[in-house]
Parts: sequence; structure tokens; C-alpha cells
Amino acid sequence: MLSTMQDVPLLISRILAHGQVIHGTSQVITWTGEGEPDRRSYAEIGARTAQLAHALREDLGVEGDERVATLMWNNAEHVEAYFAIPSMGAVLHTLNLRLPPEQLAWIVNHAADRVIIANGSLLPLLAPLLPHLKPVEHVVVSGPGDRSLLAGASVQVHEYEDLIAGKPTTYDWPELDERSAAAMCYTSGTTGDPKGVVYSHRSIYLHSMQVNMAQSMGLTDADLSLVVVPQFHVNAWGLPHATFMTGVNMLMPDRFLQPAPLAEMIETQKPTHAAAVPTIWQGLLAELHARPREVSSLTQVTIGGSACPPALMEAFDKLGMRVCHAWGMTETSPLGTIARPPAHVEADSEEELAYRLTQGRFPASVEARLTGPGGERLPWDGESAGELEVRGPWIAGAYYGGQGAEHLRPDDKFSEDGWLKTGDVGTISPDGFLTLTDRAKDVIKSGGEWISSVDLENALMAHPDVAEAAVVAVPDEKWGERPLATVVLKEGASTDFAALRSFLAEEGRIAKWQLPERWTIIESVPKTSVGKFDKKVLRRQYADGQLDVTQI
Ligand code: ADP
Repeated sequence: MLSTMQDVPLLISRILAHGQVIHGTSQVITWTGEGEPDRRSYAEIGARTAQLAHALREDLGVEGDERVATLMWNNAEHVEAYFAIPSMGAVLHTLNLRLPPEQLAWIVNHAADRVIIANGSLLPLLAPLLPHLKPVEHVVVSGPGDRSLLAGASVQVHEYEDLIAGKPTTYDWPELDERSAAAMCYTSGTTGDPKGVVYSHRSIYLHSMQVNMAQSMGLTDADLSLVVVPQFHVNAWGLPHATFMTGVNMLMPDRFLQPAPLAEMIETQKPTHAAAVPTIWQGLLAELHARPREVSSLTQVTIGGSACPPALMEAFDKLGMRVCHAWGMTETSPLGTIARPPAHVEADSEEELAYRLTQGRFPASVEARLTGPGGERLPWDGESAGELEVRGPWIAGAYYGGQGAEHLRPDDKFSEDGWLKTGDVGTISPDGFLTLTDRAKDVIKSGGEWISSVDLENALMAHPDVAEAAVVAVPDEKWGERPLATVVLKEGASTDFAALRSFLAEEGRIAKWQLPERWTIIESVPKTSVGKFDKKVLRRQYADGQLDVTQI
């Protein structure tokens, strides 16, 4: 028997229509670096979104599911692109501006982007790349920046504001299939070549509802969210879509992502929520310690993208900013788990902190299972560690294979029965809390046992002299692999590896057999394009003999 319910497709244009009318007075505030920030209401954004869609269709000839790329910071125009491109049926392709230029070119060619909307401040990156971007015919430039860099380019160049000026402020959005492509994002390539993940209207719609749930970010139109996580990194964790459902105001940092302007944004604009990877928060914390600011408005901070070190969470707690830890991937839209402790746990207790430090609980639409090294299913007992596999309506089931018949590319990341193999290793407690111990490829395999590089890093970063620490596996004749501790010292601290090693052993922090013998001081931990520790680089530096290693 069929249901008697209406079958209304879950489309991005519906999220837009809702936000611009029901939450028409909510705002996107974009930091400009000097003077007052730019404030734009959702109603204005809705009107300009329609104008952009008209311009793309009528002036640039964007048809069907063509890809329109963005090379942009977080700002109001990027939000307009977020809604205009998918709502008209085309596919938004957000380009990660921190990728090495060759990878960026590879991605643009692979996705066959015909149009790029770029911030003027990013033309120094885009201009030299253009000769290598074969499918690109149009570049639309928005915001300050030197246009002369595009002189002589073999593409048509347009000014964003000129292009949309005078266009109708409404658009008859097409009734699309909710399963069709809305947006695409390539993985940042921490573990190999970038792979294209294509989100559908339906997956984005459902994911946005989850982001808004009280047990996820749970924000309302009384909130102002500082969206530091880039719009080119997994759709800024779904925030721009989710906020248009609930009217949450957004504070967009544009290119001002350094600790000092972020601290100023918090002090002057008074966001209630912020979202970013741990490295951003480490920097902000140092800034706030060096130059204290009034930041008491910011009471909720979502951290994800890599594990949140306990020391960081505790430091933020002291400042009155409550950290909520979350786990996800480009392939999971990204919300996979979020760490809100269960109601029975006493507030501010050690048990509560332990729950908050896990990667969190799976929401209803994300199914999870753990697979052991021999392919066996492992129990959710909080102890058995295996590879995490997930399934759900906003989880990728294939990668984008490029245009043509082989549109979707299977990959060994997907199990035969259709689950995503995350490459993350961890345990799940009986009440569904995930604790990641490592990435499958970063775990240190020592004498048939596993040592978690993340545990060692967290323990090291709890030492008062340590600013940052990354631990990688290095070959060892006797044990196969052993940990190498690479440490960034705080200003003024001096090197004492023996003391650091004893600190790790104290209070049972780390088991004796797991303690590193190899130590080195580095100036900073190399980071990937999205601010994660780039252990590939450290392993290579070690192999090439570039690190000054002390053995103790
Ligand atoms: P890439 O795989 O290229 O680094 P993603 O941004 O998709 O790009 O990264 C997803 C990965 O980031 C996850 O598989 C996991 O290893 C790591 N990650 C994300 N959030 C967390 C977290 N809260 N704790 C630990 N690791 C995390």
C-alpha cells in the first residue's frame, strides 16, 4: 500500500524560499577588515540569489547540471552562490583554495567547471592557473582585488555586481529530482588523490535538519554563528543551509582568519556559536592569553575535523566557551557523530568530560558498525577497536568518476554491501558513543600491537611546555614500527625529552611499552589544506633524514 502523503521533493530552493521569507530579517555579516562589516538580510540574499541565477543562465548560458565553481572565502556572495547554483539545477563546486595549484587544476578539469566565481583577493592564485583550466570559459569576480591580473586571460571576465545588477529579484526555481546533484566537494587528499563527493538536494536537506537538532548544534534565530570552517570544506559543515532553515545569523570572516581578527570579531560582533578545526582554536587561545578580550558571548564552540585535544577543551571551558566535539568526513556531509553527553550524566563531572571528549553519538540517520582486521563484526563494548563503517542518507556511496557513462566510480572505500569504510579506527560504547583511536594508516603497528598516535599526541599536548605535538610511525628493526614524537615547544620552554617521556608515563597516561624512544623538536607541525596535521610530510622528512632525532 502506498502512503497518502504528498511527495514534495526536498530541494535547496525550498530551504532558500523558507529562509528568505520566514527569517527575512536574519543576517549574514561579512567581516571586511576595516570599518563596519557588511550586513545583508536573508531577504536581500534571497533577492540577489535570484539575480545571480538569472545572470548565470541568461548571460553565461549555464544550463542543466553544468558545474559552477567557487573560489571564495566565507562571505555573503558565497552564500548567494550556495543557493543560486543548485536551486537553478546546476551543480555548485566549491574549490579548496589551500590545495596545491596542480591539484586545484586537476579538480577543475575533472569536474569540468565552465564558470568560476572567484573573490578578487584570490586572483593571484587563480590567474596563473587559468591556462591549465581547459573547461573554464567565464570568471566572475567579486570583492576587492587586482583585476588587472586577469588581463590577457583567454576567458570572459565579469564583475559579480555588474552581472547581477538590474536582474529580476525572483526566479521560477525548477522542480528538480531531489536525488539529483546539488553540490560537489573533493576530499582534501590527506590520504591520496582528491576524490569527488557529490551531494544531492535530498542529502543536504536532511543533513541540515540534523545539524539543527537540539542534540546536534541546536541553534535558533537568537544565535549568531561565527562560521570559521570554510565554505569550501564540506559545505562549512552544512551551516549555510541549516541556518536558512532556522534563521541563525551568520558571521563570515572572509579572508581574515588569523587569531587577532577572529578575536576582534568575537569581541565586537558577539557571536554565540562558532565552528572550526582544532588548529584555529589553538591559535585563538594563544591570542586570547596574550591579549585578553571580552569574549563572553561565545558560549558554544563546535570542534571537528581532527580530534580535539583534552587540553584545548579544558582551556576553552575555563574561558566559558563550551566545546562540542564532532566527527565527520567530506564523504559524510560531514555530520557523523556529535558529543552531547546523555542526560543522566552529572553536569561538570569527570564522566561528563569523558563523554565530551569522545567523537560523540550517531544521529538516527547514521548507522555504524565496526569491522576487525579479518573482516569480522566487532561488538559495541567500548573496548573492541576496529575500522568504522557508516551508512545513511547523507553518506557517500561512490565517488564522482567524471562525465560520461562511468559517472559514479566505485572504490575500495565502499564495502560490497554499500557501507562507507571510513579509514578511521576506534571503539563504540554500548550507548553509541564513538571514540576514535587513530586513522587506519596513522596507527603505529609495534610488535603486533597497535599504538594510537592520537593518544600520544594528546598526552604530550597536556604538558605545559608543549604547544603542539605530532606522532608518526617510523620503521624499526625489532618492532616493525615505533612512534616518533615531533614536538613544538612553547615560547621560552627548553628541550628535555627525558622529562617529557616521564610525564607521559606518569599517572598511567601512556603504557610503558608505548612510550616513544625517538624525539625531535620542530618549529611547527606541517598542516594540510584544511588545517590537519600532515603526517605524510613528517614521515617523508624522517625518511629523508631531515629531522634531527634524539634517541632516549
Ligand atoms: P581528508 O580525509 O582529506 O582529511 P576530511 O575533511 O573529509 O578530509 O577528513 C575526514 C577525516 O578527518 C576523518 O576520516 C577523520 O580521520 C578526521 N576527523 C574528523 N573529525 C574528527 C574528530 N572529531 N576526531 C578525530 N578525527 C576526526
